Amino acid sequence: VVLIKTEDLCKTYSTGTEQFHAAKKIDLEVYKGDFTVIMGSSGSGKSTLLYLLSGLDTVSSGKVFFKGQRIDAYSEKEITDFRSNKIGYVYQSINLIPDFTLLENVAFPGYVAGRSKNDVNKQALKLLKAMGIGEQADRLPSQVSGGQQQRAAIARALINSPEVIFADEPTGALSQEQGTIILDLLTDMNLTGQSIVMVTHDIKAACRADRLILVKDGMIDGILELGKYAPEQ
Ligand code: ADP
Ligand code: ADP
Repeated sequence: VVLIKTEDLCKTYSTGTEQFHAAKKIDLEVYKGDFTVIMGSSGSGKSTLLYLLSGLDTVSSGKVFFKGQRIDAYSEKEITDFRSNKIGYVYQSINLIPDFTLLENVAFPGYVAGRSKNDVNKQALKLLKAMGIGEQADRLPSQVSGGQQQRAAIARALINSPEVIFADEPTGALSQEQGTIILDLLTDMNLTGQSIVMVTHDIKAACRADRLILVKDGMIDGILELGKYAPEQ
């Protein structure tokens, strides 16, 4: 089942008189339930593509469909609702709010979506426990490790039960060991049905893909069908 589809997708950045084409006529499909990985060297346009697929940035031309609906044609309000309810986003830089506890950080998008505080708090704690950091729920981000912060950021991305999780180099700021924990969590989530689209230039992270999309110079350079990653027992 096609979850996301692009047609002739282009993104051009303008800085003064200079123009840079970061996405060039991209036609792509992302399937529901897949762990899709977008791989390419630095500057190839991976983050740009993720921003466009997730509605975090506007297209220069072309179309982006999410379950058949054109998100590039959404109004400001529709795109805000879409970002808040349909997708979760995980960043390399983690981006937790420093003076919120982990629990408050995870719960926050639930409050923004207008859900009951009690429900949201319960679910936030459940998610933190599932990420193995239930004990740290009342700590501030500065009081836990980078890997634990990223686990909280994944919990935050999951709070509104999104249809898809986007992750931009989620292991990029972490040690090898912490990075593997994050990849294992994402793999587990995917094996229980969560659709994931992850950007990386790390081959170890790319190995988790069902479907590996290679990006080069703002274009698709190849697509590899790998099948489900088999976790070690
Ligand atoms: P990647 O994620 O593969 O490293 P990006 O999508 O971040 O690549 O960037 C692709 C190209 O677009 C790079 O050359 C980058 O410098 C340029 N770029 C990205 N964002 C902007 C921007 N806001 N303004 C101008 N150029 C940008
Ligand atoms: P990453 O490689 O993790 O995607 P980057 O360092 O490429 O991160 O980009 C981080 C931010 O800076 C992005 O929001 C991107 O749009 C912006 N950016 C990247 N390159 C440029 C550029 N040449 N000019 C302006 N903004 C840029």
